Amino acid sequence: MTAPTSDHPTLDTSNPPLRLRHHCGVVGVHSPSEDRIPEKLFYALFSLQHRGQESAGIAYRNQGRLVVYKDLGMVSTVLGRYLREKRSSTVGIGHVRYSTYGGNKIENVQPVLASCNKGDIAIAHNGNISNAGTIKDALVEEGSIFQSSSDTELMLHLLARSRAVGFFAALRETLARLEGAYSLAMIHDNALVAARDPLGFRPLYIGRNGSVTVVASETCALDMLRIGDYRAVAPGEMIIADESGVRSEQILPSSQKAHCVFELIYFARPDSSVFGKSVYAMRKRMGAALAEDDPVRGDIAVPVPDSGNTAALGYAEAAGIRIELGLTRNHYTGRSFILPTTAERELAVRMKLHPVRSVIKGRSVILVDDSLVRGTTAGILVKLVREAGATEVHLRLSSPELKWPCYFGIDIPTRGELISNTLSSKEIADHIGADSVRFLGVDRLRSAVGTADDFCFACFTGDYPIGVRDRDKE
Ligand code: SF4
Repeated sequence: MTAPTSDHPTLDTSNPPLRLRHHCGVVGVHSPSEDRIPEKLFYALFSLQHRGQESAGIAYRNQGRLVVYKDLGMVSTVLGRYLREKRSSTVGIGHVRYSTYGGNKIENVQPVLASCNKGDIAIAHNGNISNAGTIKDALVEEGSIFQSSSDTELMLHLLARSRAVGFFAALRETLARLEGAYSLAMIHDNALVAARDPLGFRPLYIGRNGSVTVVASETCALDMLRIGDYRAVAPGEMIIADESGVRSEQILPSSQKAHCVFELIYFARPDSSVFGKSVYAMRKRMGAALAEDDPVRGDIAVPVPDSGNTAALGYAEAAGIRIELGLTRNHYTGRSFILPTTAERELAVRMKLHPVRSVIKGRSVILVDDSLVRGTTAGILVKLVREAGATEVHLRLSSPELKWPCYFGIDIPTRGELISNTLSSKEIADHIGADSVRFLGVDRLRSAVGTADDFCFACFTGDYPIGVRDRDKE
């Protein structure tokens, strides 16, 4: 297996971030005739930037070779050159990533390439293989060498070592061995290949515009490329787009689904559809459900921008109170700072969010956000709103209490770090200095989402859709 090397510095990720983080977003484009594929990948990845801000990369086929260009940094920084230097190609894939598993090292940046007995392959992966540790132990025991700590490289090992004849037979065999979450965009020789795990944890969409085929994590990337004709890649489905057209095959049985409900609560962009549902409509419904039995009647609902915006609209509408943009977000602070001390964290939040004193002063404020992780940011925000003159501050969260880690692609801290595992709502309110704290109940979230049996709620309930071995939990 080959992996590019670099002497880029690694970022320090030893201190916890201020918000939950997603692993990745993927995109793939195929055109039967030469097209500006890298440029298309740039625009699609730019739309998916919210899914990962620490590294970006693309791989594309050029004159019979696979070319990869990737680095630590945002899409515009890493891939901006492709807007100036137009490159033609017939197939390409792209990836944005947060560092979680294995840290933010250049060797973990995707797409990952390999040239092996199954051909030239490039992979971009969104998700988390929940039996990666077990499989990797077995491969290392047999002598395999890994150059990265990402579970994506593991897939290339399995593909190369498969005794099945041909790439597609090897891919079917490989995917059948994997457990957990994967939405994949791949290049094999001149074909674009997409596949999704049988439980459908992460979203993946496919669309066409004329003869151009695009796959992407969210529909906002397809909208960006002006592709209006799209559908979800089904859980367990593999799609191949090559010079002979687009083919689809159900390669793994999918009787049960486990769509990640957090995509609807927080991760996906509100203008996207994921799992066949409008993210915007879902968030409004969650906000409304949160207001339904709330005994507190505030003067105004104030969203924590941008994550609380849409839920706050739903809350205000259902509660019959005004929504006011009482917190202004400074959009120029870049990625969340990762800082060790409380004072530095407070400064980071103050740099990012500013209360609008004229809106808040003298009012009872319902502060609406999507979730509560450690409570650090919430405590600082409550303090900011009080300092701006609020008479009362009530925090409302449009998700239930986060109590369990995720093994399927979201970076949720350990149980001990999650504030809802140690404190009740009343105690959290005291801890962060709020007048009250209320969460959306699990049952209300299930009703708001509809088709709840198709969703995973494990980080709230501990009821995981598939078992995860202790080795793999590490
Ligand atoms: S455990 Fe939570 S974050 Fe992870 S897939 Fe399930 S719902 Fe999503």
